[in-house]
This record gives sequence, C-alpha cells and structure tokens, in this order.
Amino acid sequence: MIRKFDSENFKWDGVDTLVYKQDGSPFKDVTRQVLYDGAYDIPCQFRYFECLPGGYSTLEYHEHTHMVMIGRGKGQLLLGDEIYDVAQGDFIEIPGNTIHQFRANKGDYIGFFCLVNKDRDKVKLLTDEQMETLRQKPKIKEFLEGLRVHGHRFDWPDYLVFASYRGD
Ligand code: MN
Repeated sequence: MIRKFDSENFKWDGVDTLVYKQDGSPFKDVTRQVLYDGAYDIPCQFRYFECLPGGYSTLEYHEHTHMVMIGRGKGQLLLGDEIYDVAQGDFIEIPGNTIHQFRANKGDYIGFFCLVNKDRDKVKLLTDEQMETLRQKPKIKEFLEGLRVHGHRFDWPDYLVFASYRGD
C-alpha cells in the first residue's frame, strides 16, 4: 500500500483530514490524519498532526508512550516541566505519564508524526491544581498564556487563520 504525498498541502492520498472542534476544548486549530492503523505484527497507529500558526495540541498526559518526529515547521514543546524549541526533523520520545503539549508559537505551522500503540490508555487532562503548579514556573506560564512570536502576540481572527490554510 502506498499513500502518495501532496507536499504542498501536507496531505496523503486516501487519508481523511480530521479537524478538531474548536469550542470549549483544550486544543486549538489542530488537524489529524491517520496514515496507518496497524497490522497483526505491528499493532500501532501512525498519525500526522498539524497545528496552524498559533494553534496547539491538547495539554495532557497518559500512561502510553509517544514516538514523535517533527515533519513540518517549528514551534515549542512542553514536556514534563520544561519548554523546548523543536523544528522539522527533530525526534522526540514522550515517555508515559509525562505532561506534554505542542504549540505553533514560532510564526509557523508545526506538523508532527506520532506513533502510538493501538491498545493504549485514555488521555488525561490536567486538574486546576496541576495547572496551578505548572504556572508557577515563569517560562511555562509564558508558554501557556503568551503565544509570543518575536515579541508580538498572535491574535489573528479565526477566519484569517483558516483562509490561509485552505489549499483545496
Ligand atoms: Mn499525548
């Protein structure tokens, strides 16, 4: 099986792009494509996620491990209690029970491939108490609230963000 790659739009033939709901959710402007849904001897899912500039993945933790490779663009990763700059080609292991979130806060998309076991525990969101603990670190507080790009804040209206994304 071969899924041909459309490099202009970062899409693969025959793969649906799922756009997450925007309202009342702990993520923003994220799409998901499931490239491979496992086989008997490799029981894993291979997905591609993408955040538009200013978007971010869910702030979460869980028992299962992620194997991640940045496929497009750049941004930042909150992993545990540290913030890391990440960019295309970087390889990342997100160990079990480690808080993580990707943010496209460097003026670019961030797209990443993510391998997970098909059989995995459910995502856990942070409690108010856990959020408070995280915010005590100034760098993390800025990461969670700032969305600063070269000193400027991202405050594009949603319609503009989506207009810039629509390639089809
Ligand atoms: Mn996760």
